[in-house]
Amino acid sequence: MIEKTILIVDDTVTNLDILSDLLCEYDVIEATNGKDALEIVEEDSINLILLDIMMPEMDGYEVCEKLQSNPKTKNIPIIFITAKTDEASIVKAYDIGGADYVTKPFLPKELLSRVKKELQIQDMMDELKLLASTDPMTKLYNRRYFSKIALHTLDLAKREKKPLSLIMLDIDKFKNVNDTYGHSVGDEVIIHLANEMKSNQRKSDISARFGGEEFLILLPNTDIDGAKVVAQNLRKAVESAKIIYDGKNTLHYTISLGVSQMDLDTNQTIEDGIKLADDALYEAKESGRNRVCTQ
Ligand SMILES: [Mg+2]
Repeated sequence: MIEKTILIVDDTVTNLDILSDLLCEYDVIEATNGKDALEIVEEDSINLILLDIMMPEMDGYEVCEKLQSNPKTKNIPIIFITAKTDEASIVKAYDIGGADYVTKPFLPKELLSRVKKELQIQDMMDELKLLASTDPMTKLYNRRYFSKIALHTLDLAKREKKPLSLIMLDIDKFKNVNDTYGHSVGDEVIIHLANEMKSNQRKSDISARFGGEEFLILLPNTDIDGAKVVAQNLRKAVESAKIIYDGKNTLHYTISLGVSQMDLDTNQTIEDGIKLADDALYEAKESGRNRVCTQ
Protein backbone atom coordinates (compact mmCIF):
# COMPACT_ATOMS: atom_id res chain seq x y z
CA MET A 1 0.00 0.00 0.00
CA ILE A 2 1.24 3.48 -0.85
CA GLU A 3 2.12 5.50 2.21
CA LYS A 4 -0.21 8.38 2.90
CA THR A 5 1.19 11.84 3.38
CA ILE A 6 -0.39 14.11 5.97
CA LEU A 7 0.38 17.80 6.19
CA ILE A 8 0.10 19.31 9.67
CA VAL A 9 -0.22 23.07 9.91
CA ASP A 10 0.11 24.72 13.31
CA ASP A 11 1.97 27.82 14.49
CA THR A 12 2.80 26.12 17.81
CA VAL A 13 5.77 23.81 17.42
CA THR A 14 4.81 21.72 20.47
CA ASN A 15 1.51 20.89 18.78
CA LEU A 16 3.34 19.84 15.62
CA ASP A 17 5.54 17.52 17.69
CA ILE A 18 2.58 15.91 19.45
CA LEU A 19 0.68 15.37 16.20
CA SER A 20 3.75 14.04 14.38
CA ASP A 21 4.31 11.45 17.12
CA LEU A 22 0.68 10.45 17.05
CA LEU A 23 0.69 10.04 13.26
CA CYS A 24 4.01 8.18 13.12
CA GLU A 25 2.55 5.44 10.89
CA TYR A 26 2.10 8.06 8.15
CA ASP A 27 4.48 10.20 6.18
CA VAL A 28 4.13 13.57 7.91
CA ILE A 29 5.07 17.02 6.63
CA GLU A 30 4.93 20.00 8.98
CA ALA A 31 4.26 23.68 8.35
CA THR A 32 4.13 26.49 10.90
CA ASN A 33 2.13 28.94 8.79
CA GLY A 34 -0.45 29.09 6.03
CA LYS A 35 1.89 30.42 3.36
CA ASP A 36 4.29 27.48 3.72
CA ALA A 37 1.35 25.07 3.79
CA LEU A 38 0.03 26.39 0.46
CA GLU A 39 3.46 26.01 -1.10
CA ILE A 40 3.83 22.45 0.17
CA VAL A 41 0.47 21.32 -1.27
CA GLU A 42 1.52 22.70 -4.65
CA GLU A 43 4.72 20.66 -4.64
CA ASP A 44 3.92 17.47 -2.75
CA SER A 45 1.13 15.01 -3.09
CA ILE A 46 -0.82 15.44 0.15
CA ASN A 47 -3.61 13.05 1.17
CA LEU A 48 -4.91 14.89 4.22
CA ILE A 49 -4.36 18.18 6.05
CA LEU A 50 -4.64 18.80 9.78
CA LEU A 51 -5.15 22.51 10.06
CA ASP A 52 -4.98 24.82 13.04
CA ILE A 53 -7.38 27.77 12.86
CA MET A 54 -5.70 30.38 15.01
CA MET A 55 -2.45 31.35 13.35
CA PRO A 56 -0.94 34.81 12.80
CA GLU A 57 -1.00 36.41 9.32
CA MET A 58 -3.11 33.77 7.58
CA ASP A 59 -5.58 31.85 9.72
CA GLY A 60 -6.78 28.29 9.04
CA TYR A 61 -10.04 29.44 7.46
CA GLU A 62 -8.16 31.47 4.88
CA VAL A 63 -5.83 28.56 4.13
CA CYS A 64 -8.86 26.31 3.69
CA GLU A 65 -10.57 28.79 1.37
CA LYS A 66 -7.44 29.09 -0.77
CA LEU A 67 -7.14 25.31 -1.00
CA GLN A 68 -10.80 25.00 -1.92
CA SER A 69 -10.53 27.55 -4.72
CA ASN A 70 -7.65 25.70 -6.38
CA PRO A 71 -8.85 22.75 -8.52
CA LYS A 72 -5.60 20.95 -7.79
CA THR A 73 -6.05 21.03 -4.02
CA LYS A 74 -9.78 21.32 -3.46
CA ASN A 75 -10.26 17.59 -2.96
CA ILE A 76 -7.68 17.22 -0.20
CA PRO A 77 -9.66 16.60 3.00
CA ILE A 78 -9.03 19.05 5.82
CA ILE A 79 -9.49 18.29 9.50
CA PHE A 80 -9.50 21.45 11.56
CA ILE A 81 -7.82 21.08 14.94
CA THR A 82 -8.45 24.05 17.14
CA ALA A 83 -9.04 25.42 20.58
CA LYS A 84 -12.10 27.27 19.29
CA THR A 85 -15.15 25.45 20.59
CA ASP A 86 -17.97 27.89 19.84
CA GLU A 87 -20.71 26.80 17.49
CA ALA A 88 -20.14 29.57 14.92
CA SER A 89 -16.48 28.62 14.48
CA ILE A 90 -17.38 24.96 13.98
CA VAL A 91 -20.15 25.72 11.49
CA LYS A 92 -17.87 28.05 9.56
CA ALA A 93 -15.21 25.33 9.31
CA TYR A 94 -17.68 22.94 7.68
CA ASP A 95 -19.25 25.67 5.54
CA ILE A 96 -15.97 26.57 3.87
CA GLY A 97 -15.20 22.96 3.04
CA GLY A 98 -13.61 21.36 6.09
CA ALA A 99 -14.11 17.60 6.27
CA ASP A 100 -13.96 17.34 10.04
CA TYR A 101 -13.40 19.40 13.17
CA VAL A 102 -11.55 18.39 16.32
CA THR A 103 -11.25 20.59 19.37
CA LYS A 104 -8.17 20.85 21.55
CA PRO A 105 -7.35 19.20 23.84
CA PHE A 106 -8.16 16.16 21.71
CA LEU A 107 -8.24 12.48 22.54
CA PRO A 108 -5.28 10.99 20.64
CA LYS A 109 -6.96 7.74 19.64
CA GLU A 110 -10.11 9.53 18.57
CA LEU A 111 -8.09 11.83 16.35
CA LEU A 112 -6.29 8.83 14.84
CA SER A 113 -9.65 7.22 14.08
CA ARG A 114 -10.88 10.36 12.40
CA VAL A 115 -7.73 10.57 10.32
CA LYS A 116 -8.13 6.92 9.26
CA LYS A 117 -11.78 7.49 8.36
CA GLU A 118 -10.99 10.52 6.21
CA LEU A 119 -8.26 8.63 4.38
CA GLN A 120 -10.65 5.74 3.75
CA ILE A 121 -13.27 8.11 2.34
CA GLN A 122 -10.58 9.59 0.12
CA ASP A 123 -9.64 6.13 -1.19
CA MET A 124 -13.29 5.41 -1.97
CA MET A 125 -13.63 8.72 -3.80
CA ASP A 126 -10.52 7.92 -5.85
CA GLU A 127 -11.93 4.51 -6.68
CA LEU A 128 -15.24 6.04 -7.77
CA LYS A 129 -13.47 8.64 -9.87
CA LEU A 130 -11.43 5.93 -11.54
CA LEU A 131 -14.56 3.90 -12.27
CA ALA A 132 -16.31 6.94 -13.71
CA SER A 133 -13.37 7.99 -15.87
CA THR A 134 -12.06 4.73 -17.29
CA ASP A 135 -13.23 2.05 -19.64
CA PRO A 136 -13.48 -1.16 -17.58
CA MET A 137 -12.07 -3.49 -20.25
CA THR A 138 -8.96 -1.54 -21.27
CA LYS A 139 -8.45 0.72 -18.24
CA LEU A 140 -7.94 3.58 -20.68
CA TYR A 141 -9.91 6.78 -20.17
CA ASN A 142 -13.47 6.62 -21.44
CA ARG A 143 -14.97 8.98 -23.97
CA ARG A 144 -16.68 11.19 -21.40
CA TYR A 145 -13.55 11.75 -19.36
CA PHE A 146 -11.47 12.26 -22.48
CA SER A 147 -13.79 15.06 -23.62
CA LYS A 148 -13.47 16.72 -20.23
CA ILE A 149 -9.70 16.50 -20.06
CA ALA A 150 -9.35 17.50 -23.73
CA LEU A 151 -11.16 20.79 -23.04
CA HIS A 152 -8.66 21.69 -20.32
CA THR A 153 -5.74 20.59 -22.50
CA LEU A 154 -6.96 22.76 -25.37
CA ASP A 155 -7.28 25.80 -23.08
CA LEU A 156 -3.78 25.21 -21.77
CA ALA A 157 -2.34 24.80 -25.27
CA LYS A 158 -3.90 28.13 -26.31
CA ARG A 159 -2.64 29.90 -23.22
CA GLU A 160 0.89 28.55 -23.52
CA LYS A 161 0.87 28.71 -27.34
CA LYS A 162 2.06 25.11 -27.55
CA PRO A 163 0.92 22.80 -30.36
CA LEU A 164 -1.70 20.15 -29.67
CA SER A 165 -2.33 17.12 -31.85
CA LEU A 166 -4.73 14.20 -32.01
CA ILE A 167 -4.49 10.65 -33.24
CA MET A 168 -7.59 8.64 -33.99
CA LEU A 169 -7.10 4.96 -34.66
CA ASP A 170 -9.00 1.77 -35.08
CA ILE A 171 -8.38 -1.91 -35.61
CA ASP A 172 -8.37 -3.01 -39.25
CA LYS A 173 -11.15 -5.41 -40.19
CA PHE A 174 -12.11 -5.89 -36.58
CA LYS A 175 -15.43 -7.42 -37.56
CA ASN A 176 -13.49 -10.23 -39.24
CA VAL A 177 -11.56 -10.86 -36.02
CA ASN A 178 -14.81 -11.23 -34.11
CA ASP A 179 -16.46 -13.32 -36.83
CA THR A 180 -13.45 -15.61 -37.30
CA TYR A 181 -12.17 -16.06 -33.75
CA GLY A 182 -15.13 -15.12 -31.59
CA HIS A 183 -15.79 -12.14 -29.35
CA SER A 184 -13.54 -13.20 -26.49
CA VAL A 185 -10.54 -13.17 -28.86
CA GLY A 186 -11.85 -9.84 -30.18
CA ASP A 187 -11.76 -8.54 -26.61
CA GLU A 188 -8.20 -9.80 -26.23
CA VAL A 189 -7.19 -7.87 -29.34
CA ILE A 190 -8.74 -4.70 -27.92
CA ILE A 191 -6.95 -5.17 -24.60
CA HIS A 192 -3.70 -5.90 -26.42
CA LEU A 193 -4.00 -2.69 -28.42
CA ALA A 194 -4.78 -0.68 -25.27
CA ASN A 195 -1.63 -2.08 -23.65
CA GLU A 196 0.43 -1.22 -26.73
CA MET A 197 -0.97 2.31 -26.56
CA LYS A 198 -0.01 2.57 -22.89
CA SER A 199 3.52 1.31 -23.44
CA ASN A 200 4.10 3.45 -26.54
CA GLN A 201 2.69 6.70 -25.22
CA ARG A 202 4.81 9.47 -23.78
CA LYS A 203 4.16 10.71 -20.28
CA SER A 204 1.97 13.65 -21.25
CA ASP A 205 -0.07 11.82 -23.91
CA ILE A 206 -3.67 11.03 -23.03
CA SER A 207 -5.13 7.82 -24.45
CA ALA A 208 -8.79 6.90 -24.47
CA ARG A 209 -11.14 4.27 -25.78
CA PHE A 210 -13.58 6.26 -27.86
CA GLY A 211 -15.97 3.41 -28.48
CA GLY A 212 -15.92 -0.18 -29.81
CA GLU A 213 -12.57 -0.61 -31.54
CA GLU A 214 -11.93 3.14 -31.87
CA PHE A 215 -9.29 4.92 -29.84
CA LEU A 216 -7.98 8.45 -29.43
CA ILE A 217 -4.69 9.89 -28.29
CA LEU A 218 -4.31 13.54 -27.33
CA LEU A 219 -0.75 14.80 -27.64
CA PRO A 220 0.02 18.04 -25.81
CA ASN A 221 3.05 20.06 -26.86
CA THR A 222 3.26 18.07 -30.10
CA ASP A 223 2.89 19.26 -33.68
CA ILE A 224 1.62 17.12 -36.52
CA ASP A 225 5.09 15.79 -37.42
CA GLY A 226 5.70 14.70 -33.83
CA ALA A 227 2.26 13.09 -33.70
CA LYS A 228 2.99 11.24 -36.94
CA VAL A 229 6.09 9.71 -35.35
CA VAL A 230 4.07 8.55 -32.33
CA ALA A 231 1.40 7.14 -34.68
CA GLN A 232 3.95 5.30 -36.83
CA ASN A 233 5.67 3.82 -33.80
CA LEU A 234 2.36 2.50 -32.49
CA ARG A 235 1.42 1.15 -35.92
CA LYS A 236 4.74 -0.70 -36.20
CA ALA A 237 4.53 -2.04 -32.64
CA VAL A 238 1.07 -3.48 -33.38
CA GLU A 239 2.11 -4.85 -36.76
CA SER A 240 5.02 -6.79 -35.29
CA ALA A 241 3.12 -8.10 -32.26
CA LYS A 242 1.41 -11.43 -32.09
CA ILE A 243 -1.46 -12.45 -29.87
CA ILE A 244 -1.56 -15.96 -28.53
CA TYR A 245 -5.10 -17.21 -28.15
CA ASP A 246 -6.47 -20.50 -26.86
CA GLY A 247 -3.02 -20.97 -25.38
CA LYS A 248 -1.42 -22.06 -28.65
CA ASN A 249 -2.64 -20.21 -31.76
CA THR A 250 -1.21 -16.90 -32.85
CA LEU A 251 -2.97 -14.03 -34.50
CA HIS A 252 -1.73 -10.78 -36.03
CA TYR A 253 -3.71 -7.62 -36.51
CA THR A 254 -3.07 -4.11 -37.79
CA ILE A 255 -4.39 -0.64 -37.11
CA SER A 256 -5.03 2.47 -39.20
CA LEU A 257 -4.41 5.93 -37.81
CA GLY A 258 -5.47 9.47 -38.65
CA VAL A 259 -3.53 12.45 -37.30
CA SER A 260 -4.61 16.08 -36.92
CA GLN A 261 -3.18 19.18 -35.31
CA MET A 262 -5.45 21.65 -33.56
CA ASP A 263 -5.57 25.13 -35.05
CA LEU A 264 -5.16 27.26 -31.93
CA ASP A 265 -5.74 30.57 -33.72
CA THR A 266 -9.35 29.83 -34.54
CA ASN A 267 -12.35 28.74 -32.52
CA GLN A 268 -11.77 25.15 -33.56
CA THR A 269 -13.17 22.77 -30.96
CA ILE A 270 -11.83 19.40 -29.88
CA GLU A 271 -14.76 17.86 -31.77
CA ASP A 272 -13.51 19.63 -34.93
CA GLY A 273 -10.02 18.24 -34.31
CA ILE A 274 -11.43 14.75 -33.78
CA LYS A 275 -13.42 15.09 -37.01
CA LEU A 276 -10.23 15.97 -38.93
CA ALA A 277 -8.37 13.02 -37.39
CA ASP A 278 -11.35 10.81 -38.22
CA ASP A 279 -11.31 12.03 -41.86
CA ALA A 280 -7.60 11.19 -42.02
CA LEU A 281 -8.33 7.79 -40.51
CA TYR A 282 -10.97 7.23 -43.19
CA GLU A 283 -8.36 8.04 -45.82
CA ALA A 284 -5.94 5.54 -44.21
CA LYS A 285 -8.65 2.88 -44.46
CA GLU A 286 -9.53 3.75 -48.04
CA SER A 287 -5.92 3.71 -49.18
CA GLY A 288 -5.21 0.22 -47.93
CA ARG A 289 -5.16 0.16 -44.07
CA ASN A 290 -2.19 -0.44 -41.72
CA ARG A 291 -0.99 3.12 -42.29
CA VAL A 292 -0.93 6.65 -40.93
CA CYS A 293 -2.62 9.53 -42.76
CA THR A 294 -2.71 13.18 -41.78
CA GLN A 295 -5.45 15.76 -42.09
MG1 LIG B 1 -2.51 28.25 16.65
